[in-house]
Amino acid sequence: MPELPEVETVRTELDRLLAHQRIIRWERRRADLRTPIPAKLPIGPVHGVRRRAKYLLLAVGDGTVLNHLGMTGVWAERTTIQPHDHVRVHLADGRVLVFNDPRRFGLLELCRPDGGHAALDHLGPEPLSPAFTPDRLAGRRAPIKTVIMDQRVVVGVGNIYASESLLRAGIRPMRRRLTAAERERLATCIRSVLTEAIQAGGSSIDDFRHVNGLSGRFQQTLLVYNRTQCGRCGGRVRQTTIGGRSSWWCPACQR
Ligand SMILES: [Zn+2]
Repeated sequence: MPELPEVETVRTELDRLLAHQRIIRWERRRADLRTPIPAKLPIGPVHGVRRRAKYLLLAVGDGTVLNHLGMTGVWAERTTIQPHDHVRVHLADGRVLVFNDPRRFGLLELCRPDGGHAALDHLGPEPLSPAFTPDRLAGRRAPIKTVIMDQRVVVGVGNIYASESLLRAGIRPMRRRLTAAERERLATCIRSVLTEAIQAGGSSIDDFRHVNGLSGRFQQTLLVYNRTQCGRCGGRVRQTTIGGRSSWWCPACQR
């Protein structure tokens, strides 16, 4: 499943492909993905593609389209039709962008006239924005890994990046009380892990149709996620289920 850095890579590519373009038609090839696809989506000049958490927001004409990649959603530019090309977006210059999603957990919906959407209303701050401060992690009762993966606390920290941030910060994922210094260190590590992953995704992927899962180059730098040996100390990595999610941690590097 794409995480925040992968979605940011897709955003950059979509924004580049759609810059100064006009959408003249949305061709719906089926009526629904995870939710119904609106029969009428906005056409006209593309004003830009933004990202909020793992959602993409396409500002088109006088409306905004909300898109989520789900498990397997990808955008691609092509004129042929391939299996699972559920929506084709026709541009004024003759090019066609398609949204392809074999498992159909993705979504395409219309935002409210104010540009908002119910799916965005209760989201916490972006991890790379100044609004994400270490204080956000204070006073929570759940294991810290569950806290940083809670979208109301901070958005876009999925299982991979939560595990990596905790390893870098030297904090065990099941801990429930952190000191102020630990919260500070963890917030810093979350930002650095995501920033590096965005940079790796942005520099390694030249064909964004293949953006599906983890950014290519960052995968090689994972220290603990889905590993048996710690990438930092070489010790044996433990695997524990926390909050229903598989969690990897190093007893030597994390306290
Ligand atoms: Zn270690």
